[in-house]
Amino acid sequence: MQQEKRFDPVTLITPTAAMSPSVHGGRAKCLQRLIRLDMPVPTTVALSFAAVRKIARGQMPDMAGILDPFGANPLLSVRPSSQDPDWGGPSAILNIGMNDTRYAQLIDSLGADAATSIYLRFIQSYAVQVARLDPEPFHLPDTPTEESLRAMLDAYEYETDEVFPQDPAEQLGQVLRSMARAWDGTTARLLRQAKGAPADAGLGLVVQSMALGVGEGTSGAGVIQFVDDATGERRIKGRYLSQSQGRDALTVAKGALFLCKDGRGPSVEEELPEVFEQLRNYGDLCRIRLREEMQIEFTIENGQLHILDAVRVQRSNRASVRIAVALAEDQVIPTDEAVMRVDPAVLSELLHRQVDSVSPRDRIVRGIAASPGAAVGRIVFTANEAQASAARSEPCILVRRETTPEDIRGMHAAAAVVTVRGGITSHAAVIGRGLGLPCVVGASDLVIDRKGKRLIAPDGRKFHEGDMITVDGTSGDVLAGAAPLLEPALDGAFQQLLQWADQYRDIGVRANADTPADAQTARNFMAQGIGLCRTEHMFFEGDRLGMMREMIFADTVTERQAVLDRLLPMQRGDFAELFHIMQGQPVCIRLFDPPLHEFLPADKSGHRELAEQLSLPLSEVHARVEALSEYNPMLGMRGVRLGLTYPEIYDMQARAIFEATVEASRSGDPVVPEIMIPLVSAMREVELVKARIDAVAGHVRAETGVQFNYRYGVMVETPRAALRAEDIAQYAAFLSFGTNDLTQMTYGLSRDDAGRFMSAYVNAHVYEEDPFHTLDVDGVGELLKMGAERGRAGRSDVVLSICGEHGGSRSAIDFCRKQNFNYVSCSPFRVPAARLSAAQLAI
Ligand code: PEP
Ligand code: MG
Repeated sequence: MQQEKRFDPVTLITPTAAMSPSVHGGRAKCLQRLIRLDMPVPTTVALSFAAVRKIARGQMPDMAGILDPFGANPLLSVRPSSQDPDWGGPSAILNIGMNDTRYAQLIDSLGADAATSIYLRFIQSYAVQVARLDPEPFHLPDTPTEESLRAMLDAYEYETDEVFPQDPAEQLGQVLRSMARAWDGTTARLLRQAKGAPADAGLGLVVQSMALGVGEGTSGAGVIQFVDDATGERRIKGRYLSQSQGRDALTVAKGALFLCKDGRGPSVEEELPEVFEQLRNYGDLCRIRLREEMQIEFTIENGQLHILDAVRVQRSNRASVRIAVALAEDQVIPTDEAVMRVDPAVLSELLHRQVDSVSPRDRIVRGIAASPGAAVGRIVFTANEAQASAARSEPCILVRRETTPEDIRGMHAAAAVVTVRGGITSHAAVIGRGLGLPCVVGASDLVIDRKGKRLIAPDGRKFHEGDMITVDGTSGDVLAGAAPLLEPALDGAFQQLLQWADQYRDIGVRANADTPADAQTARNFMAQGIGLCRTEHMFFEGDRLGMMREMIFADTVTERQAVLDRLLPMQRGDFAELFHIMQGQPVCIRLFDPPLHEFLPADKSGHRELAEQLSLPLSEVHARVEALSEYNPMLGMRGVRLGLTYPEIYDMQARAIFEATVEASRSGDPVVPEIMIPLVSAMREVELVKARIDAVAGHVRAETGVQFNYRYGVMVETPRAALRAEDIAQYAAFLSFGTNDLTQMTYGLSRDDAGRFMSAYVNAHVYEEDPFHTLDVDGVGELLKMGAERGRAGRSDVVLSICGEHGGSRSAIDFCRKQNFNYVSCSPFRVPAARLSAAQLAI
């Protein structure tokens, strides 16, 4: 916090007064800027955070000193002024200073109706917001009359046993105190902390002379802005209401004017053209000089325009991108500032898949559309199941009655969330939006049968755990089966912002993509290649899973080779498609790393299916599954261990990659594939596999007569690989840190089982964060540093990257930049946010 000594606790705002947002708050500072721009701002006094803190403790400032600049008998407003206006604050209170004497004067100058309405409004807000009385007896009457005024004053006296305070200094003192205390309330504190305010965030207050908006001549109040808060497009929006105050124009059902003439009804542009012109000029001035899209609050008092306040236009995530880009395109701000102005976390919401609107919809239920986008996945009912499913890379939909903080880890792991209870601000909805996760809440016609592990739809249909459903968080529909989804497309502003980001970024961003659809998304989001293609994921579905199982089950080399011969053209096709989509960008293909338990059937019916498929007796399938099953499959026959034990498997994959390379290079940009070996722990593994792959490359070159190159690299995901990186790098052009397994092995913490106790661990601050979500810089990071240094010692130009799930997060990107890594690789949907984060870190 800045030194308060230089600043007075009570400051009359003038163009030259010493003021700062961190001392007086953003609103006070903004008012000073409006005054500097010669806008007609009524006299305003700012109270600093320190002054307001003292007021909350009962130490009142000298009231005469505050009131002095306003002259005799002023009417005043008080508004909050927190450091960041988005942190909110108590509601404004208007017309302070109204009492019986002032009322009599106003009847003479403004007429009885206006005077009564002003006094009534003040009593109401004072009674409810300051004296904290039950609002019931203080409703404003439809027609303000002297009787209704007396009744309200009596009600005040009845409720408090005191007459309504008549001394303006006492009124103002009480208003200041109630606002200062409201800021310290638990709800207010939680709300602002949720918006990023620090625990000790201060509140300033601004006391301003009222421009009345009611009375003689043209009088009224309104709000105008020059941009659409939903889309970010430039257009004039707002309302004005004759004979009104504050933001009344925004809340009345009838009688308000639009600001500009656009055919929707009477407008200020037509009825008060001079005022409209002035407002438009002020809007331009704000945009250019305050370098922001502002919403201006104004009042017309007897034909005179007053500017009371200007606040940054609240905006949707989409609008925030468009506004930042438009300001930079108009050279109001430089492009690096536009890049800094958009929070990378908001991008995810703009990047979602949508249900194809032309396809038929088999609706199970409709709830509240709480977080946009659509996802397909299998039903799970608990956070643990969601995590287990994610560990198997199987998209799932978490279905809960309602969610609690215990479910957050499950939500991270799920593709979408459905809750039976809750509204648009329920826990599931808020967290869903925060994570950019499609979410439908309040699907109250749905019954969860927990015992039977199934959902019962309103039409009686039953959906079991593991059944495939689609969640459309944009419409609120939950659909049966896997509905066809459309990939998201970036609009022009988004593209522009990211292009600027790329000019500042100094680390590459690739995508983890296993399928052509993933690759296409990666391409749409301008990933600089594929950093990890998990080839076993290409076999998760349909017939392909069967073939993978056949390969795993094969008893002899001949049998296995027969399956591999059938797999070869499929893999070749897959790779050719990836190369084609990526148009010459690097594609890093990881050879098979199938933890066997993920590919073997888990239950009896699965065994039966497999027996049929392989034409084997059931007993033999049982026996074989038994023989193959491991006590600790994540540390068992995985990765390169499979590749070395059954070398013909990696031979087939290498051949498929090279043949696809030849094919793709013929029809498009030359391709230099990258081949990556998983779960390495010893140099000799790398050496042996390399020798075989070189041999396959030689054969394919000879057979096709086409020359091609490839790059060979290692995935560093065991601690030993990090420790021995110097040796390993002699055989590897690149090292990519697989921080999922590296975290698992560094902590000795199972990826699949950690969900059971992770919440307890994080709650007890054993771990500050779940290390599978947030890179553990202190521990795993140490191995990364060591691996990088040793890798460079073995090969000075070794290319370094990270491809675990951490790759897209800001903290991991920060870490990788500092270690001079070449690139990060993350899921395609995180690529835009990663590009933006990387740029912001470099600016
Ligand atoms: C890793 O371990 O970090 C990784 C990317 O590989 P996988 O998640 O497939 O084990
Ligand atoms: Mg791994």
